Amino acid sequence: MKKSFREFLKERKLILHCGATGTELMKIGGETPGAVNTITRPQDVLRIQRDYVEAGAKIVLTNTFAMNPLYSDVRCKGYDWALLNRRGVELAEEAAGGEAYVFGNVGPVGEMLEPLGTLKKTDAYEAYGAQIKILADGGADGISIQTFFDLEDMILAVKAVRDYCDLPIIANLVFNQNGATMMGNTPQQCYDALYPMGIDVFGHNCGEIDAFSLGDLFSDLAKKTEIPLVALPNAGIPKTVEGKPVYEMTNEEFRRGTEYLIEKGFTVLGGCCGVNVGHIRAIADLFVQE
Ligand SMILES: [Zn+2]
Repeated sequence: MKKSFREFLKERKLILHCGATGTELMKIGGETPGAVNTITRPQDVLRIQRDYVEAGAKIVLTNTFAMNPLYSDVRCKGYDWALLNRRGVELAEEAAGGEAYVFGNVGPVGEMLEPLGTLKKTDAYEAYGAQIKILADGGADGISIQTFFDLEDMILAVKAVRDYCDLPIIANLVFNQNGATMMGNTPQQCYDALYPMGIDVFGHNCGEIDAFSLGDLFSDLAKKTEIPLVALPNAGIPKTVEGKPVYEMTNEEFRRGTEYLIEKGFTVLGGCCGVNVGHIRAIADLFVQE
């Protein structure tokens, strides 16, 4: 039997995380939101995830970004969000084949919380809880809460996991080039709020910050953190070609960025939008450990 993710996390110096699924699906004409491709083109989702596992990734995410009942009500009409979560775990488990840990991908509801927006905290908490329950019951090894730009919203999602189960949590906010989230929280402030809630890994995904700025932004926190830090930057800032985002970062550039992030103290590394299996293969040898 596979050892627990927490044991694995303790014994590994560096862990390779997968790259993007959503932008890879868009490249081949997949639907948006990306999660519906789990039903409409499962073989493509499976192939993308399996490529990451074969490249050496030890963490793969389910194709279930933001598949909570509130988000799905607005952007995903006609699809059964619960089924997309159940099938999402099954597909990722199949791709992982026991060689990688499957993390249920939980994204934000996509509305601003009150008082800036109209989203009620209790509604967001319940929506996250509904998705997390299905991912956990489906057999995910952990929950990855990602692409959150509001710490308050992230706190609701982390609470929803902890109120339901003891699965490991990877908590990723989006930090900007100016050194804070969109709502103005620094990495240290976010860490101070989330670490006591029992998260297992903390860091950044997506956004427009480059790997070098990200490394500098987290370097102080890296010296005192009690838990591993994760960085999943995008493959640069995309150009729009025929209405689709095109990411042009080369594998060599991606590798240089990853090396810098490791130097600055990040220990779980992969990528978000635009990061494909070529990028992940280009950094895989950094993670080989006897
Ligand atoms: Zn992204």
